[in-house]
Amino acid sequence: MVKHISHIGIAVKDLDAGIEFYKKLGLELEAVEEVPSQMVKVAFFPCGDTRIELLAPTSEESPVAKFIEKKGEGIQHLAFAVDDLPAALQESSDKGITLIDKQPRPGAHHADIAFLHPKSSMGVLIELCKEKH
Ligand code: ZN
Repeated sequence: MVKHISHIGIAVKDLDAGIEFYKKLGLELEAVEEVPSQMVKVAFFPCGDTRIELLAPTSEESPVAKFIEKKGEGIQHLAFAVDDLPAALQESSDKGITLIDKQPRPGAHHADIAFLHPKSSMGVLIELCKEKH
């Protein structure tokens, strides 16, 4: 069902500080964009076949703000690329995996995304992602 790791989502309080750190590792900043549906500003760093996705909340109501409040900064989700997102959601549901999103929704980087519930995956928030680039 999944093809490869699309990206690793990392929650940060200060996007600029995060960008500065990943630049120090020698990664190149690809894009910064705001995702209003998730109330986050994100920065992407390509790294091989995958990307580092830094997520900084733009509102206290953002799921990422709540994540940081509860667990602190750090790895927030793991995103797998899929070819057919609606089919992958159906297959996940058929296999007894609890979904957060029953329908795909628009995510960052022109992708459609959907989250699986961490209670089905030993605590890891998993995103399925149909990449459009
Ligand atoms: Zn993501």
